[in-house]
Amino acid sequence: MSTFSSDVTLTSTDTLLRGATAGAYARVVHDVVDDVAARFAAVSQPWSGASRDELAALVDAVDLDGPGVGTDDALRETADLYATHAVWFHDPAYLAHLNCPVDIAAVGAEAMIAAINTSVDTYDQSTVATLMERRLVAWTAQRIGFTDGDGVFTSGGTQSNMHALLAARESALTAPDGSRISGLARTGLQARLRVLATDVSHFSVAKSAMLLGLADDAVVPVATDPDGRMSPDALTEALAATERAGDVVMAVVVTAGTTDRGTVDPLAAVARTCDAAGVWLHVDAAYGGGLLVSPTRRHLLDGIERARSVTVDFHKTFFQPVSSSAVLVRDRADLARTAWHADYLNPATDPDNQVDRSLQTTRRFDALKLWATLRAIGPEGIGRRVDAVCDLAAAVHADLVDDPELRLVASTDLSTVIFRYQPAGVSDAQADALVAQVRRVLFDSGRASVAKTVIDGRPCLKLTLLDPGRTLADVRRVLTLVRDVAHGLLAGEALAGLSGPPCRDVHPHLDRTLTEGDR
Ligand SMILES: *Cc1c(COP(=O)(O)O)cnc(C)c1O
Repeated sequence: MSTFSSDVTLTSTDTLLRGATAGAYARVVHDVVDDVAARFAAVSQPWSGASRDELAALVDAVDLDGPGVGTDDALRETADLYATHAVWFHDPAYLAHLNCPVDIAAVGAEAMIAAINTSVDTYDQSTVATLMERRLVAWTAQRIGFTDGDGVFTSGGTQSNMHALLAARESALTAPDGSRISGLARTGLQARLRVLATDVSHFSVAKSAMLLGLADDAVVPVATDPDGRMSPDALTEALAATERAGDVVMAVVVTAGTTDRGTVDPLAAVARTCDAAGVWLHVDAAYGGGLLVSPTRRHLLDGIERARSVTVDFHKTFFQPVSSSAVLVRDRADLARTAWHADYLNPATDPDNQVDRSLQTTRRFDALKLWATLRAIGPEGIGRRVDAVCDLAAAVHADLVDDPELRLVASTDLSTVIFRYQPAGVSDAQADALVAQVRRVLFDSGRASVAKTVIDGRPCLKLTLLDPGRTLADVRRVLTLVRDVAHGLLAGEALAGLSGPPCRDVHPHLDRTLTEGDR
């Protein structure tokens, strides 16, 4: 199926711009695009289903120390290896993790980024790119309700959370006169810093605490309501208990869209409590950030403007290619505290260097993709897609309410569905075991991909709906497979459930699966 036909080495953007090489560049990239487009049209299930051993053999068979085979052959071989066995998030039977099908305008921008290769660290390497990223940071801050905020694009929610908590730590370790607490006083105070978060906050919160050198017990769990939302009363109690223990609250972390349930913590109530206690509130909106542009659900984020820092993952609910995320702060001084200066790169006398704000130095111009999407479909277009996936989840929930076999386990504010296969007569222990088995049989077959998690101590299957082009019928097809596989497993023949046709009976249209402009 390969269409590669030229042989060139692209060494720099400089050579790209010269006539002959520019022609070769266009041909090579067109060939790759044609190949991938053909695969988009032909893919009939989320992935090939090849075993790990088969894949390892294919990967190991490539001679990385051998002589080069030329651009065409290299790309043909690479596509045959990678694209053939990749997991296709746009396939209607891929319902596992927080991966979105990507906006086409953003993919176009990605092609620009790859070839032009801007690094948004210093102004002299990025010029207009710095100004475009600054504009988008300001746009996002304004959507949040930060009137004089700041921020920077990051590689993902994990880095955004880490960066926000670093800023919170530095704020906690700043003396009243604005100077940085240092030496033994710093060591002593740092050991007493606490981060209050629910046990369903993203694991990057606990990991950040470790990376930031906080104490092993620095993350204090705050109780949740039965739906997994932080309880404001429990927060009040936890703040008081921390103070009684002589510890110092470095930050309270709430989640706008928990990774499993997609629930939004009560931001306004928590913000009130944090304001009263004078503590740093971080809102992890990695998943729920898309609500910023939702025409119908923006109210779920009411109170986010009172946060001191916010994480938004554009590569989730803004339908951006990986990677694209940002950390935003309400007060510019909070990012400035961690700036570091090098004579060769960003002397303190130079304004406008994004590296001053970032944990990275060389950094992708990911902002260009969001820019292109916003110009292509506007914030409303993105917001309608967010609504579409939330509406679909609500429809699936309604569909399953009285299902005799699939039992809903949790509600959602966003787009996840958490359930178990447990008809009458199947014990809790049997249903527990079926979760991993059903997921594995489906995954190994390549026919469908669903996720699993644990809710209140019990294993559950999980769907994450992030494709605005999907319909209830698409999801029902996968749920039918789940039931069929569970029947087969209970009857001792796991593969019995997989004899039917693929979940996709029509080829996807690129405009739908890559979510080009809403029509
Ligand atoms: C996905 C997610 C993260 C981590 O984001 P990455 O982009 O995967 O690093 C953090 N917090 C929440 C709530 C998430 O859902």
